[in-house]
Amino acid sequence: MLEMSHKLRVGELRALYLTEEEIWRTFTIVLTTKSKKSATYKFGLLKAMIENLYQVDEEAEVTYDQLAYSFTKIYWNLVIHHELEQGTRGSAVVNQLNDIYHSYNIPQEMPFDKLDTTIQLAATRRIKAVMKTNVFGALYGDTQGAFYAFDHKTEQFKYNGAVLTFMRKYQRLLIDLVNHHMAKMIEQLNEGPHIQYLLNKVESIAKRSTLKPFEKVLLHYFEDNCFYCGKSLHKTNMQTHVDHFIPWSFVQSDHIWNLVITCSACNTSKNDKLAVRSYLDEVVDRNERMINQPELVQQESELATYKKEKMIHLYDYSIQNGYEDIWVPR
Ligand SMILES: [Zn+2]
Repeated sequence: MLEMSHKLRVGELRALYLTEEEIWRTFTIVLTTKSKKSATYKFGLLKAMIENLYQVDEEAEVTYDQLAYSFTKIYWNLVIHHELEQGTRGSAVVNQLNDIYHSYNIPQEMPFDKLDTTIQLAATRRIKAVMKTNVFGALYGDTQGAFYAFDHKTEQFKYNGAVLTFMRKYQRLLIDLVNHHMAKMIEQLNEGPHIQYLLNKVESIAKRSTLKPFEKVLLHYFEDNCFYCGKSLHKTNMQTHVDHFIPWSFVQSDHIWNLVITCSACNTSKNDKLAVRSYLDEVVDRNERMINQPELVQQESELATYKKEKMIHLYDYSIQNGYEDIWVPR
């Protein structure tokens, strides 16, 4: 382990080429080693890394802001929304979030995505500062500097290309592993809640409570018809749904380029499945139209790094990850 690595302001990649076996070994060590201080942070950062696997630019980089947003959401939902602060009480992240929670008089049941944007940004900014002192360097040390590079000055985070590919390839398994170990650690730190209860909470903390804001945008720009069956959505009493084209259980995030508007029948029957491949072409076409709308790209900043190859890889990786039960609309 790299000593005192949490104090680092810059971390360069120590190994560029890694075999899958080496990455698995490091992952296993990171997940099972008990670090005393700020115990759950590494899981929070790993979850944020998973959530941003398809938000990287061509250099495999994401900004600190992107990671801090995911990380803040995860901790907000864990600590404030689910009141599972016991294990992490007194940690810098929890203190910052509690401070915001009290100073804005936020109702406890409020999940992160329902907070006012200014509050989300204020929280993200504070948590980013904590991540700079306590998180980026720590996991960097635990992974022997092999998983990513980071730089506090430019606020850029760069995945090791081999690790990025690995994480996409084994994404589903890694999500389960990280959630399981995070829940186990919270269980050890808390008196009381049962592991299964905690696991359910941990599995849900990355999830949005509503996709309504996306629905508005998509309906405004595009879809008058169900993406899958083509039925008009303007008829009275026709309920519209927002569907994750690649299932949420796999992507664990809500990229607008992965969301489509559907009728309720299609959304319900598709559920957690992957749609037949012909729809991949359709979603790729839809997204081309999306990125050709400058106003929309400005509003939805994640469209700036969208590439159709990402969508196609995501589709192929989800099959590799076990989404083999292909859905066809009736
Ligand atoms: Zn439909």
